[in-house]
Amino acid sequence: MSERIVVVGSIALDSLETPEGKVDDAVGGSASYSAVAASFFSPVRLVAVVGRDFPESAVELFRARGIDLEGLEFAEGETFRWGGRYHTDMNRRDTLFTHLNVFENFHPRLPASYRDSEIVLLANIHPALQAEVLDQVDAPKLVALDTMNLWIDIALDDLRSVLQRVDLLFLNDEEARQLSGEHNLVRAAAAVREMGPRTVVVKKGEHGAVLFDSDGAYVQPALLLERVFDPTGAGDAFAGGFLGHLGRLGRTDPASLRQAMAVGTVLASFVTESFGPQRLAALTEEEIGQRLEHLRRITRWPFDGAVV
Ligand code: AMP
Repeated sequence: MSERIVVVGSIALDSLETPEGKVDDAVGGSASYSAVAASFFSPVRLVAVVGRDFPESAVELFRARGIDLEGLEFAEGETFRWGGRYHTDMNRRDTLFTHLNVFENFHPRLPASYRDSEIVLLANIHPALQAEVLDQVDAPKLVALDTMNLWIDIALDDLRSVLQRVDLLFLNDEEARQLSGEHNLVRAAAAVREMGPRTVVVKKGEHGAVLFDSDGAYVQPALLLERVFDPTGAGDAFAGGFLGHLGRLGRTDPASLRQAMAVGTVLASFVTESFGPQRLAALTEEEIGQRLEHLRRITRWPFDGAVV
């Protein structure tokens, strides 16, 4: 039986500008993308807050994916809002604004039925809130955390403290350099592993991701897509797909972690094809399977036997 995943993070209304288009108030947030992606593989429980302005259609989108919404709080006030603008090189973006709104007074409260979750995904929110969640779970088998440059800038002590309680950290290459003070990625990952998480996944946008654990480094290329519309949420979907797969397997050994890199990569690729999580939420198992096969083909080792 699949293991249960509790996801805590942000639910947002995003204003996004990419070289391909512009949108206001698209459903977003780290928890949204992560929870939807994970839901294809394992049962998901959501902990987050939205305001009274949050569209019922988006709640329905989560419900239709079978996500447990007992931990979703509806608070007085406006939903968290984030604005981002991407450069021509879509690996780079600027934050235009962050309006915490209902997040300002939010403290995650896990329903009693969530406490036995085997896997915890602390998606990107303030690290002090991430720590509060860990105080409310019984004995998870795997705790994973995703973060961003903002918290390295303004809440480093809280981040360092929660990292000591984490098994697996997702972060992008820039964040790995910023957090470690090392510009070389191998040294950066080693330094970050010293801070607590024994497994570190460094995401590099269209250039794929690298996993660092006790078995060494493992490189996972990304899919080559003809049209990248909006990369927002790709990292969150990567984390959700990754943990969803581990939950389905019920294992966290090095081989399973490497499989999870492929599943995360595939889920992230779908997110980039539209604004918001709608495309992701409408996926079929067949589409996921086809894209995994595509990834297998473009990453095949070209030699049968010895090379030299
Ligand atoms: P990603 O593209 O994977 O880094 O995630 C983008 C999502 O993170 C967007 O949908 C935003 O709403 C959300 N986000 C941006 N800034 C923050 C923040 N400070 N706290 C929580 N979520 C955020």
